[in-house]
Amino acid sequence: MEKLIIIGSGVSGWTAAIYAARAELEPLIFTGSEEGGQLMLTTVVENFPGFPEGVMGPELMQNMKKQAEKFGARIIEEIVTGFRKIKEGYEVSVGREVYKSSMVIISTGASARWLGIPGEKNFQGRGLHTCATCDGFFYKGKEIFVVGGGDSACEEANFLTKFAKKVTIIHRRDELKASKIMQEKVMANPKIDFMWNSEIVGIPGGPPLKSVMVKNTKTGEISERKIDGVFLAIGHVPNIGIFNGLVELDEFGFIKTDGRRRTSLPGVFAAGDVQDHIYKQAITAAGAGCQAALEAEKYHQELGHKK
Ligand code: NDP
Repeated sequence: MEKLIIIGSGVSGWTAAIYAARAELEPLIFTGSEEGGQLMLTTVVENFPGFPEGVMGPELMQNMKKQAEKFGARIIEEIVTGFRKIKEGYEVSVGREVYKSSMVIISTGASARWLGIPGEKNFQGRGLHTCATCDGFFYKGKEIFVVGGGDSACEEANFLTKFAKKVTIIHRRDELKASKIMQEKVMANPKIDFMWNSEIVGIPGGPPLKSVMVKNTKTGEISERKIDGVFLAIGHVPNIGIFNGLVELDEFGFIKTDGRRRTSLPGVFAAGDVQDHIYKQAITAAGAGCQAALEAEKYHQELGHKK
């Protein structure tokens, strides 16, 4: 029987592990398929306090992992495939392997949202991408579309101009949702163009992607546009798969937590993007991971008293 299992190894997972390990909860972390989470897909992080010159996302995550290990967190590089309530607490499974724990911290994060258009899956990684820092390099001297109007779309568009000849931001409305500073950056970039009131409704032919069908959201007119690659930056969906139906969700489909990161299940806490559709920042994920671990410590003490 474990004291604490942490599922997910992004900022919130590692922070929870650091705090829990220091509190002698001997946390067992399952990293999932993308160890380090979303920051592994970024370049420089400029707004994480304590790094006036910025820090590379992967380096920050590597350091968090080291720090968790230093305090004794145990790490299993596997994807958790099952979760259920049992008499003594919770059962977490990885294929046929079963682990039992009285407490669980869910820090499974969120994944990039796809367009949801027919045949889209066939083009994933073959002209259609969700991570500019991962795949931008392949578009040296090419023309690219970036879909979305938020901070991510602007950041990705800017980054992609390092490689691409021209980047066009396709947005379904006629104004960006992004923060003012981000908007100013893309507006000032001579390699970035805009296609307003537009959305991609189809991809003709087979992979690799050569063109897309673009619909004007005002007039309904659809036209084919030749393009070398498309990067989606239209938000993220929480990774709640194995918890679906077991833990209460909020109206947006994220895990519902109270101000103390407690979920609807006793002894189960959630931290980071899986329970946050508002801030979605590395620093808020770290804060939530810390809260979850401190609450787990309190819960553990209460359990001890009851016994
Ligand atoms: P957002 O939810 O902020 O923006 C998503 C964008 O995609 C919106 O413009 C939305 O359109 C559009 N969109 C959503 N679904 C579709 C769809 N199906 N088809 C076409 N367009 C769609 O997500 P982001 O990932 O941009 O940002 C998430 C959070 O992370 C934000 O809080 C942001 O501030 C933060 N962030 C901060 C950064 C920084 O400060 N350096 C960098 C990146 C992100 P509409 O506008 O019409 O809703």
